[in-house]
Amino acid sequence: MARNYLVTGGAGFIGSNFIEHLAQAEPDAAVTNLDLLTYAGIAATLDHLDGVANHRFVRGDIRNADLVDSLVAAADVVVNFAAESHVDRSIADPQSFFSTNVMGTGVLLEAARRHQTPIFIQVSTDEVYGSIPAGSVGEGAPLRPTSPYSASKAAADLLVAAYRQTYGYHAIVARSTNNYGPRQFPEKLISLSITHLLEGRPIPLYGDGRQERDWIAVADHCLALKHIIDKGVPGEIYNIASGSVVRNRAIAEQLLGWVGEGSVEFVPDRPGHDHRYSIDATKLRDLGWQPTVPLDRGLRETVDWYQRNREWWTPLVASR
Ligand code: NAD
Repeated sequence: MARNYLVTGGAGFIGSNFIEHLAQAEPDAAVTNLDLLTYAGIAATLDHLDGVANHRFVRGDIRNADLVDSLVAAADVVVNFAAESHVDRSIADPQSFFSTNVMGTGVLLEAARRHQTPIFIQVSTDEVYGSIPAGSVGEGAPLRPTSPYSASKAAADLLVAAYRQTYGYHAIVARSTNNYGPRQFPEKLISLSITHLLEGRPIPLYGDGRQERDWIAVADHCLALKHIIDKGVPGEIYNIASGSVVRNRAIAEQLLGWVGEGSVEFVPDRPGHDHRYSIDATKLRDLGWQPTVPLDRGLRETVDWYQRNREWWTPLVASR
């Protein structure tokens, strides 16, 4: 039977890529996309999704309990992408992160528990584990978030755990590493660096630029989420990583090489900046998922996308 999806945050970067992926992978699925259209929910992204079959957009807030209840009632699958997602903004304005990321997830979970929604995916992040000095951590590692953003995401993961223990409602938590790809708001390392280069500005790098991140193409993250929806076990946590751990300055150098000209500017480090993230995705790989996009190719394709889609990102640069 055709499934009804409620996707929250589908006007943002990963949510919009997921809706597009779903239209290919499960063409008879119906998708309701609930998004508040904050600065990160982008009208041009929604225009792009206009052509996607069985997609319905609802402008609204995941903290609106009545609205959420009515949408969850009709859903077989809830995938919660909606969030405040940028660490720097969480340092400047933590309250909105607590409100959307924690309270909003609570509202969604409560509706899903009431309606016994068969599948609920809480889209989380590797940042909940904090900085990992060496090696990679599995899903059982302690949560040691360090920024208001990662703390709010960890709190949402703990709400999922509480609903499992207290009510026997088994949502799934999916913790991905840093994503890159088309339609990412130009504020995070790769999208910011590419757009700065294309505007003829230096790439700003925090501190000494030696921080390490494990990068995943957004297409592989979407594949992983679909895999978890189809094959994951309710109540479980899955790490999602490609294993491409690279220093920030190496990413900048690679981008500089392709764009052909430009420079790097070292700027004062972010307060509490985590030095290294690295998670172990063996559990998901054992379920049959594997990444398909090598970092080198994915980065080149992303540069190409930003070169071809200036009209998407140029208006956003002014608002960043
Ligand atoms: P994004 O900032 O591009 O998009 C977030 C979307 O949520 C926007 O469309 C925004 O309008 C919407 N939104 C915000 N508050 C809302 C509210 N109260 N009600 C309804 N909609 C609201 O974020 P993204 O990078 O696509 O990230 C999506 C999810 O994936 C987030 O939960 C994030 O924590 C997680 N994640 C992101 C990354 C990454 O590298 N970007 C990595 C791991 C996990």
